[in-house]
Amino acid sequence: LMQLFVPLNFFGFLHREIKQGLVDLEAMFSLLREEPEIVDKDGAGPIAIKGGDIRFRDVKFHYDEERPILRGVSFDVPAGKTVALVGPSGAGKSTISRLLYRFYDVKGGAIEIDGQDVRDVSQHSLRQGIGMVPQDTVLFNDSLGYNIAYGRPDAGNGEIEEAAQLAQVSDFIKSLPDGFDTEVGERGLKLSGGEKQRVAIARTILKAPPILVLDEATSALDSHTEQEIQSALDQVSKNRTTLVIAHRLSTVINADEIIVLEKGLIKERGTHGELLEQKGLYASMWDRQREASEAQERLRQALEKD
Ligand code: ATP
Repeated sequence: LMQLFVPLNFFGFLHREIKQGLVDLEAMFSLLREEPEIVDKDGAGPIAIKGGDIRFRDVKFHYDEERPILRGVSFDVPAGKTVALVGPSGAGKSTISRLLYRFYDVKGGAIEIDGQDVRDVSQHSLRQGIGMVPQDTVLFNDSLGYNIAYGRPDAGNGEIEEAAQLAQVSDFIKSLPDGFDTEVGERGLKLSGGEKQRVAIARTILKAPPILVLDEATSALDSHTEQEIQSALDQVSKNRTTLVIAHRLSTVINADEIIVLEKGLIKERGTHGELLEQKGLYASMWDRQREASEAQERLRQALEKD
């Protein structure tokens, strides 16, 4: 029986392997089908970014024809200013950042940086000019130093340390036995969401792009971590055009303009004070968030007392 079992078992294994291979192939082809390749125009030159003024002009976008995601969105992030995008989940906020980075092309309207349509310039130069701090940074399976220097591979140790300092992550790194040589990622030290985001901020400080796009983590942070991240961000966004997908109160209060997006349209816009006065969607989101963060803070204090 064993003689029969071994080959059968082997065939079972082979069958699973082949099936998995086909599934992978299928996934790959469906990905290829869904993500139309964005290519440079013939002879597209590098973008010339001066102040880094971002302009969305009546931008329309959908992933699937039947479901419009952005239905005519116009706004401006003047050079050096900070604009915060807020709105319910699924409103299209991250889509705006993907379009700016040109992961996709708009279906209507245009996006310009310092007057240049992002479709007319080389993607390489566009992406060089924009620093993205995503919600969930994936770290490479390498040292912390390497992960920070990835923003500018020719950076020296002094510069890496300075960037870490500005991003408020250097005390943490120095407290580790191997410091900047600590291996992180899947096989190394696991960092918390807040620590990972500060590593990403350090990477961006080193890259020093004229434009910054920040996707704040939605996960609740304790107020100390929130303050640390906020001051790291204040450093990196100083004098830089900054577009932030905001989830934290501290970010929206300080923004030059807040854009409230709902179902692919701009519902309200203004400064924090102006929007509170309007007593609309923003004001109610704000009330809810404040209650939630106050409750969280009370819980934290109660736990600390125990
Ligand atoms: P959240 O606050 O939850 O991150 P968001 O406002 O950033 O939401 P987007 O990520 O821009 O929302 O997504 C807008 C809509 O587009 C969502 O309904 C989402 O399901 C859909 N969507 C996002 N990416 C894709 C994709 N690659 N293919 C198809 N639909 C997508």
